[in-house]
Amino acid sequence: MPIRQSMNPLRRQALTVVATALLVCGFGTMSRLYADDLSPATAGQLAASAQSLSQALQTGWHTLDSLLGPSLGRPGRLHLARTVGVLEQSLGASFLAAEAWKAAVAHATRLNDLPRLIEALDHSVALALARGDYDGASALAANLLQEARHLRSTAAQAAAEGYLGVIARRRGKLEEARQHQETALELRRRLGDKAGEAQVLMNLGTVHRDLGDFARALEFQIDALELRRSLGSQEKLDLSYRNIALLYREIEDTEQARVNFEAALASSRKNYDPQSLAGALGSYASFSNDIGEAEAALTMARQARAIDASIGNRPYVGLENVEIGRALIRLGRDDEAAVVLNEALLTGRELKHREITGGALLYLGRIALRAGNETLATQHLDEAIRVLTEAGLKSALSEAFGAREEIALASGQLAAAIDFSHRRAALREELLGTRSGRQLAALKSRYERADADQRIRLLSLSNELQNLRLNQQALLRNIGLGAAAVLSVLLALLFRRYRTTRTLNRQLQQKNAEISAHEATLESANAKLSTHAAELYQAAITDPLTGAYNRGHLLRQLDDNLRHALAAQQDLSLLLIDFDHFKTVNDEHGHLFGDRVLASGIQIVRQWLEPGDLIGRYGGEEFVVVMPGRDVQSGLAVAERLRDKVASGLDALAQGKRSLTISIGLASLGSSGARTLEDLLGAADIAVYRAKAQGRNRVVRYAPETGVAAIATP
Ligand code: GH3
Ligand code: MG
Ligand code: MG
Repeated sequence: MPIRQSMNPLRRQALTVVATALLVCGFGTMSRLYADDLSPATAGQLAASAQSLSQALQTGWHTLDSLLGPSLGRPGRLHLARTVGVLEQSLGASFLAAEAWKAAVAHATRLNDLPRLIEALDHSVALALARGDYDGASALAANLLQEARHLRSTAAQAAAEGYLGVIARRRGKLEEARQHQETALELRRRLGDKAGEAQVLMNLGTVHRDLGDFARALEFQIDALELRRSLGSQEKLDLSYRNIALLYREIEDTEQARVNFEAALASSRKNYDPQSLAGALGSYASFSNDIGEAEAALTMARQARAIDASIGNRPYVGLENVEIGRALIRLGRDDEAAVVLNEALLTGRELKHREITGGALLYLGRIALRAGNETLATQHLDEAIRVLTEAGLKSALSEAFGAREEIALASGQLAAAIDFSHRRAALREELLGTRSGRQLAALKSRYERADADQRIRLLSLSNELQNLRLNQQALLRNIGLGAAAVLSVLLALLFRRYRTTRTLNRQLQQKNAEISAHEATLESANAKLSTHAAELYQAAITDPLTGAYNRGHLLRQLDDNLRHALAAQQDLSLLLIDFDHFKTVNDEHGHLFGDRVLASGIQIVRQWLEPGDLIGRYGGEEFVVVMPGRDVQSGLAVAERLRDKVASGLDALAQGKRSLTISIGLASLGSSGARTLEDLLGAADIAVYRAKAQGRNRVVRYAPETGVAAIATP
């Protein structure tokens, strides 16, 4: 074609972009279409507007494709079809989306663009499955698998195997379904595709549930849930919750079922995925019907139906209609129920969907029975029993037997009634047996899981404990090292201090020794000083020749004694001794001889004095003796004895030459009347003068009555 040949790829791409932009701007984007609690009316309205939008999108696409097709070329048309497919799918228009993807498959095949072909086939299979076209889905999935193998795309192979598994299950070929899913699981794991693995695990769970292996089913579903949680994504989390809820519902664990249904609903609302929200609502509605919550079941089933209708999921619309009918019957609104159930019956027959057909017939039979139309009821119920038996839907079948039993009883067909009763009882027994087995298996699985969790927790706890222990040991070690370090530092400090102290002590001892030596020196110096002082004092008060007190000290002592005697009113006698003719002695024998006479004479006097008496040199060869407490008589006796002893003592010195004698003048306080030192000395002087005058070598006392010495001795 000339036009196409003249178009360069860049221009073609630009045109595709423009066309897509036109489509998008023209019809707007749909987001949050199925937000929170939708009332059936709102859900319906939204579905209707979505439908009209998608219809307009489809018309726009056809127009653009035919107008711009030649300019876009096949790659451009492929891009356009893909864009429309994605947009239609986001609007929930599965039929229109399928048409777009079908066109994409055709374009990609012609272009031999395998990646695009796989993509288009993938979408096509999903859409065929959604609308219940299992034959179409099966053919497309087989095609997908072939192309995937051709392209060696593991991801596409895994997707194809997954689809084939779902289709086989829906057709009741459970073993085949299990094999496809196992293959898909292996491929996903090889790819490391965690999200894909979770999806397959979930599908495997459903297959095992259908196989009656509830424990395995629950395990697969829980594994899928945990894998999805670990991915941190909300995507398809709702599906996992829903499947787990359905399992609990089957084993009649109402509490767990409700918890998981609620979680599924919350999760699908968070995702804004209409298909999953419809699924969650529909399942929850069916469960609510089971447990007799008809109002809730009605609301949720209607919301689910509105969404399913808008996205063109016919099997689910049919199933929701059965649930709506069931709820309405329970609410006593049989007429309304009949309308929806007839609608469901039509869908079921058209899609050859046994669950829908059987359910619709069962509840239509119930309505007919209540209306008293036994013929119609029998007709509906008998067909229901046939279909439900084929589908293996035991729970609904048991209900159908019950209704038939009622009819047989009412019409008096006792044998038939007993037969239905027996069949129902057998089925119930089988159902209960299966259920108990399922419950036990589920419980076992739950306990095993809890046990494993517990073990893991214990392991992690023991690990934590081990870690704590290690930390503690490390801490203790560190503390030990720290303590050792501190101790070493302390020891080092102590040692240093000890050494310093020792050195200081040594120095101190040395200093002390020095001080002691100094002290000793000082002491001896002091002692010497004292001795010297005493000697000096003694020298200061003593006459060196005779050893008697010198004149100064004699007079001070005499004065003291005089004062004391006067104060104490005691007597005191004073002797004035004068050596006789001493000038002549010096002249005749020399001055030195004179000195010897003086020293010897005074030594003799001192020998004959009493303690307390004292002697001093008054001057030249004159001496004074003071005798405190001695009166004149006693004083005379002492004086006389002294004179005598000196005269005889000095005889040895005289050597037969001139005799050496002394004259003594005595004055006492009591007899002299003298009261002063001068008076007393004067009185003694007078008395000695008299002794000289009377011939020397004698004692004369001072006599106051005569004014001179009165008594003299020879
Ligand atoms: P009289 O019997 O009257 O006392 O005669 P006298 O010679 O002792 O008296 P006088 O007063 O004339 O002489 C005293 C003498 O004593 C004079 C003096 O030389 C002597 N004399 C005084 N002191 C000392 C002394 O310490 N040693 C000596 N050898 N003679 C002394
Ligand atoms: Mg004299
Ligand atoms: Mg004399």
